[in-house]
Amino acid sequence: MSKSIPGVLTLVEPEGDPAPVVLDSPHSGTTYPPDFGYAVPFEAIRSGWDAYIDELFASAPAHGATLLTAEFPRTYIDANRALADLDAGMLEGPWPDPFEASAKTALGKGLIWRLVGDSVQVYDRKLGVAEVQARIDRYWRPYNETLTGILDRAHRRFGGVWHLDCHSMPSVWPAGNPGGGEPVTSDFILGDRDGTTCSREFRELVREALTGMGYAVAVNDRFKGVEIVRREGRPAENRHSLQIEITRTRYMSERTFEKTDGFSILASDLDRLVAIVCDWSRQQVG
Ligand SMILES: [Zn+2]
Repeated sequence: MSKSIPGVLTLVEPEGDPAPVVLDSPHSGTTYPPDFGYAVPFEAIRSGWDAYIDELFASAPAHGATLLTAEFPRTYIDANRALADLDAGMLEGPWPDPFEASAKTALGKGLIWRLVGDSVQVYDRKLGVAEVQARIDRYWRPYNETLTGILDRAHRRFGGVWHLDCHSMPSVWPAGNPGGGEPVTSDFILGDRDGTTCSREFRELVREALTGMGYAVAVNDRFKGVEIVRREGRPAENRHSLQIEITRTRYMSERTFEKTDGFSILASDLDRLVAIVCDWSRQQVG
C-alpha cells in the first residue's frame, strides 16, 4: 500500500508479512516546487540529486520492509539536515529560532543549500524568513515526522527496528573532504557515525552481504552518516540506523544522468540485500 503527499513524500507499506526494517531515501526527489526561485541552470540544481535511489530500492516492500522516499529535491530543502543547520546570511530578516551552522552549512550545503557543486551560488537574492519556514513546514517536517513515526511504530510492534538511510555519492570526492577531487574507489560506503548509530552486527551483516556480491565496501570513510542516522539511531534501545552510499557511476552516467547497464544488476543485488536484512531482522525479534 502506498500513502503519499504529492510532491512531498511517498510511503510504501510492506507487502505480506512485515519485517522490522525501514528504508528511506531523502534525496531522490524530482518534483521541483514552483516557488524554488533558483538562479542557476537546471543541470546545476539537479547535481545534488541522489538519482534513482528510490527506484533501486523499489522492491524492498515485497520483502516486508517499509519504504519512505522524498519527492522534493534536496537543493530546495535538505531532509538530511538539522533544522538549526541554517545559514542566516541567506535570509532577508532575522531567523526567529535558534540556529547553529554545522560544517555542512560552511560548505554551502546546510538545511537550505547556498551552493551547488563546489562554488555555484544557488540564489541571486535573499530568501524570506516566511519562505524558509514554509519549506520546513510543508516538506522537511512531513518527511522527517513520517520517518520517525514509522520507526517508532516498528519499534513498538517488534521491540527493535533496523533502518537503512539510502543515498548515492559522486565518483569523485567533493571539495571540503580529504582527497577532494580524487576518485572514490569504493562501490558502497556504510556510515554509522563511527559505531554510534547501529549495532556492529547490523553493519557487518550489510557489509558482508555486499562484499559477498563482489562490491568494494568501505565503512565510515569520510561519509560517516549525517543528521537522519544521528537522530534516529539509538542502538542501546535496539533501534538501528545505518547510512548507505552507492557510487553513482556503478549505475548511471554522471554527465547525462542516464542509467547504464549496471542499473539492473545493482537493483537485483539490492533486492537480495533487502531480503537478507529482512530475514535476519525477523530472527532478531522472533
Ligand atoms: Zn543523499
